[in-house]
Amino acid sequence: RKLGVALVGLGLYSEGQLAPALEKTKSCRLAGVVTGTPDKAQKWKEKYNIPDKNVYNYQTFDQIADNPDIDIVYVVLPNSMHAEYTIRAAKAGKHVICEKPMALTSADCQKMIDACKQANKKLSIGYRLHFEPHNQEMMRLGQQEVMGKVNKIIAQNAQKQENDTPWRLGGGVGGGGPLRDVGIYCLQGAIYTKGQVPIAVTAKLHPVTDPEKFSKVEEGVDFQLQFADGSVADCKTSYNDKYNQLRAEAAKGWFELSPAYQYDGLKGETSQGKMDIENVPQQARQMDAFANCILTDTPTTVPGEMGMRDVQLIEAIFQAAKTGTKVSTKDVLQVLDPT
Ligand code: NAD
Repeated sequence: RKLGVALVGLGLYSEGQLAPALEKTKSCRLAGVVTGTPDKAQKWKEKYNIPDKNVYNYQTFDQIADNPDIDIVYVVLPNSMHAEYTIRAAKAGKHVICEKPMALTSADCQKMIDACKQANKKLSIGYRLHFEPHNQEMMRLGQQEVMGKVNKIIAQNAQKQENDTPWRLGGGVGGGGPLRDVGIYCLQGAIYTKGQVPIAVTAKLHPVTDPEKFSKVEEGVDFQLQFADGSVADCKTSYNDKYNQLRAEAAKGWFELSPAYQYDGLKGETSQGKMDIENVPQQARQMDAFANCILTDTPTTVPGEMGMRDVQLIEAIFQAAKTGTKVSTKDVLQVLDPT
């Protein structure tokens, strides 16, 4: 049996990526949707052949508890709504995939983890790059120190943000900004390449060049992750620029992806030559991996604890930027990213 997935929030990512990816999965199927917009409900029902009884809105959402067609609830809402819908899905007795960033605060992340534990349901975060072969190669080269100790990582991710999703610029339900949205990939990339969680962070906000656009969220931020062995990751993110890179400099060579974090078209190179790696449907792999965890009752490699660790680090980065000081992360869960 294929596990039934219900997408909650039919915005850009659900429509452009997740629904098409679900058609490429082996162990999942798009079984239901949750949307507040009746027009969208109609369109999705027709396009994906979804029965009426599997279509919910935000008021009827909790009734999903009574629907055996739905095994997994995939929360694809604005960041500020992740906590509420993950907790409601767990209470409805469903396994949950929650998009990144897991939530706005680590306190909320803890509540989400607790709710899933209490319901005895699995929780994973939409960290698709853990299932992407170029990024998996960065993990292998870095964590196994194939070119010796990794001394320095450069992780940069920026995109020009227009006002097509207002919450990303702090409008409406808010909870956006480049660090939470795209900078999180630098954080992830640095940690899974190094295979360690940083012990301290420093950070500096970029100067605001467009005060009207960036009145509610940061325009960009530079941050440095410091690891216990003296190595560092220099990271940079912005909503007003364009770059996309993950590079590691090791004792005996370097390895790099550029672009590194996209859905497709990733390219890799090392000091020994180009990486010969195919691009694959990342999200299909990600969802199949989670389905497999459910079917075999094994832990996910991208659990809520990892999402919470990253939110704790984001909190530390904002604190470092605000105070201009180095912030220790000794209280952050010391969870290693698995390969
Ligand atoms: P979006 O704004 O296009 O979609 C959000 C959806 O939530 C919309 O359909 C909107 O109608 C709905 N919604 C319900 N209640 C709402 C409310 N009160 N205010 C605003 N919208 C409301 O955003 P998106 O780009 O699809 O991103 C959704 C989530 O997916 C975010 O958490 C984002 O970080 C994540 N995402 C992840 C990736 C990835 O590669 N893993 C890529 C894109 C987005």
